[in-house]
Amino acid sequence: MADKSTPLNLLDCDKEKLRAYFVEQGEKPFRGDQVLQWLHQYGCNDVMSMSNISQSLRSRLADTTTIHAPETAFKQVSKDGTCKWLFRLDCGNCIETVFIPEENRGTLCISSQVGCGFNCTFCATGKQGFNRNLTVAEIIGQVFAAVRELKSPENPRPVTNIVLMGMGEPLLNTDNVISALRIMLDDLAYGLSKRRVTVSTTGLIPQMRRLRQEVDVALAVSLHAPNDALRDVLVPINRKYPLAELMQACRDFYPPGSRQVVTFEYVMLQDVNDSLSQAKQLARLLRDVPSKINLIPFNPYPGTTYQCSTRERLADFQQCLMAAGLVATIRKTRGDDIAAACGQLVGDFADKTPRRRLAARIVSAVSEVQAA
Ligand code: SAH
Repeated sequence: MADKSTPLNLLDCDKEKLRAYFVEQGEKPFRGDQVLQWLHQYGCNDVMSMSNISQSLRSRLADTTTIHAPETAFKQVSKDGTCKWLFRLDCGNCIETVFIPEENRGTLCISSQVGCGFNCTFCATGKQGFNRNLTVAEIIGQVFAAVRELKSPENPRPVTNIVLMGMGEPLLNTDNVISALRIMLDDLAYGLSKRRVTVSTTGLIPQMRRLRQEVDVALAVSLHAPNDALRDVLVPINRKYPLAELMQACRDFYPPGSRQVVTFEYVMLQDVNDSLSQAKQLARLLRDVPSKINLIPFNPYPGTTYQCSTRERLADFQQCLMAAGLVATIRKTRGDDIAAACGQLVGDFADKTPRRRLAARIVSAVSEVQAA
């Protein structure tokens, strides 16, 4: 727990950690529940306003703890209402968070790492390399800050869904991501249902198993190719966790009898993965995996050589999957005028790491997963 020199950031704590903290302070564990509620249900950022806590305990908390979320460095609102924040972290790096309002829901897309160590060839975030994992406070702090800002009295826009589809690979930061997910699901905090919180992964099999054991949320897998030869190129981690094993892990993800299905993301790249024979191969691959497929129009960014499939090709690909009995939707591109669409979340982080050291860090991050 926090020592005297580093005040505990209350946003770093899920309910268990807050309860343990108060017990350690000689207080009752339910104080942790109260603080969790003040922070995340009421959006309170000042312990002195936590009125059901005694004045003396509040003063003690004010002296020994902080409530410190990432700061908004820049905010942009797209023509379609999509809102993007650039949050500045203490280290000076920035991460991006996006809110996508729709008629019946509001989805917040959050980041889990600064940069990303997985060099998926079509993704702008991957081009930047990996800098570091986000802390719990930095992950849940994106939700905390966004919810506070979206709560304007004249036009409140509730966050109903959260997806970990921003910068980074959430399952390479599993400990912190799991704590943050617990806060999202906790009835004393954001109280989101398990179907409305989605973790997206490139397909790290051991970490998928751990996630499944520790917290009940929805899973999305970035598939992008119907066979190993192509996926090895587009999503290089496939060489470590090839499709046959990944499909088995997906079949095993939800408990038997569950009606939940895995979402497979498939970015549509012209003349790379969008032919009808590839659609048929994809249908065969997913034949016995309870799934739905989300076809994502590729969002271009400066320097990429990929192009998005044509509208006709997208529609034909979708039709082919549906004819084979699969559920396939085409994701509406949102916020592309402010570079907030998938894969455009580049952020702005100062990574001075020489390339070799950076590569070593990525290798060690991957071997962490392998060791799990
Ligand atoms: N690393 C995790 C979380 C990021 S999710 C994962 O890969 O699942 C972001 C999603 O957007 C992934 O499916 C990713 O493959 C996709 N994506 C990345 N770049 C894109 C781009 N330029 N256009 C469309 N989708 C992209």
